[in-house]
Amino acid sequence: MMRVAVLGSTGSIGVNTLDVLARHPDRFAVAVLAAGSNDAGLLEQCLRHQPATAVLESPASARRLATALRAAGAATEVRCGVEALAECAAGPGVDAVMAAIVGAAGLPSTLAAARAGKRVLLANKESLVVAGPLLVEAARAGAAQLVPIDSEHNAIFQCMPPGVDTGRAARGVSRVLLTASGGPFLRMPLERMASVTPDEACAHPRWRMGRKISVDSATLMNKGLELIEACLLFGMEPGQVEVVVHPQSIVHSMVEYVDGSILAQLGNPDMRTPIAHALGWPERIGSGVQSLDIVAAARLDFEAPDIGRFPALRLARDAAEAGGTAPAVLNAANEIAVGAFLGGRLGFLGIPRLIESVLERHEIRAADSLETVLAADRWARELAESTLAETARAGE
Ligand code: NAD
Ligand code: MG
Repeated sequence: MMRVAVLGSTGSIGVNTLDVLARHPDRFAVAVLAAGSNDAGLLEQCLRHQPATAVLESPASARRLATALRAAGAATEVRCGVEALAECAAGPGVDAVMAAIVGAAGLPSTLAAARAGKRVLLANKESLVVAGPLLVEAARAGAAQLVPIDSEHNAIFQCMPPGVDTGRAARGVSRVLLTASGGPFLRMPLERMASVTPDEACAHPRWRMGRKISVDSATLMNKGLELIEACLLFGMEPGQVEVVVHPQSIVHSMVEYVDGSILAQLGNPDMRTPIAHALGWPERIGSGVQSLDIVAAARLDFEAPDIGRFPALRLARDAAEAGGTAPAVLNAANEIAVGAFLGGRLGFLGIPRLIESVLERHEIRAADSLETVLAADRWARELAESTLAETARAGE
């Protein structure tokens, strides 16, 4: 029986994970459920899956959850805060951790799970972007298995030769073709992009996801973060990762070998496929995903991305090439910019502009300790916030 901790269980990846787990009660037990502040959602999940422990980030929500669970006669213990979360992820009652918290907030628990040698099912790409080499090193030191959940990276993992070591280039692989749906604004003229609303940005044509990653998909920053993620997970140079727009989202990415062979992983766009793959790996287990009707799909189109309308991709590639603390700063500025856009404080085209202005003022340092990357993350958040405040004052 594999005991699984689902961190970010009330989110889009979390809910899909619980769906897959519930299909295999003979194989998996839910040991820990964790979320930010959604105590009502977590209560329902606790009653259904009966984990030993539930963790909420917010103390007020944790108190409400504990009271409700007691009233229902449930045995789940409730804990709260970042440290409790990291402790649970690394604890002896857990074999595998689904890291599906959104943003750099997921870093401490992901890192703790890696150090403790758990199987880490990595959806939380921001933790890799912020502290990639440290996370890969922690997994190596703890003998943890990192299995990517991001559909593209899971596809790449599936197309890599067996026995591939996290962070090290596989022999014979020359290139990765990272596919992108192009998001909801793939064909939209720049003038119109200036006035898009958060709801328009979150209406993704192929995937139902949380709001932060949906906005990232609309700016193509998601693909930029994924480029960095691919370099870290598979030991590639940024120049070996080509972003290809593939609007149908059926080919989830491709790996090219030195002999000219290209291997691809295909399937309906449904996150339960990579989730089931990573949970069952190296075996295959059912996911509930509908079989792909390739005749009905009929066409697979590929095109180059338009860097002019989607500058986030260029910023991310530059940060990947610069290395050190640059990716952490890119990520932090992006989290602030996306939050401001979703809150109506920043226009859509202001997102990459704000990130670029923060990156321009950053003095890159080697990302050799957690303190250094966390300091860069804090610095970037503060600068992004103060730039937003200044812009608001200037506009008054
Ligand atoms: P979401 O917004 O739907 O869910 C986020 C979850 O994290 C929620 O359960 C929320 O309560 C929890 N959370 C937020 N802040 C927290 C905090 N400080 N402490 C503890 N929990 C916190 O997001 P999502 O779409 O499920 O994405 C989760 C992660 O997976 C992101 O890193 C995203 O980039 C990645 N990812 C998602 C998809 C997808 O299809 N949704 C695909 C690939 C990668
Ligand atoms: Mg992805």
